Amino acid sequence: MPEYMYKCESCGEAFSLVLSLPEREEKQRLGELQCPRCKSTEVEHIMEPFFAKTDRKS
Ligand SMILES: [Zn+2]
Repeated sequence: MPEYMYKCESCGEAFSLVLSLPEREEKQRLGELQCPRCKSTEVEHIMEPFFAKTDRKS
């Protein structure tokens, strides 16, 4: 499963979640994507550097 990196816009905490795509979409829809530190739901998806380097074209 992919690992998603998030950054909290409230406190700046960076954290990662391992979620399937449907899980991620559901959490986003329900507002359950939450900062583990301050519980803010103002989280921004940031690119995972490891994934950025993998070049899968198929
Ligand atoms: Zn936070």
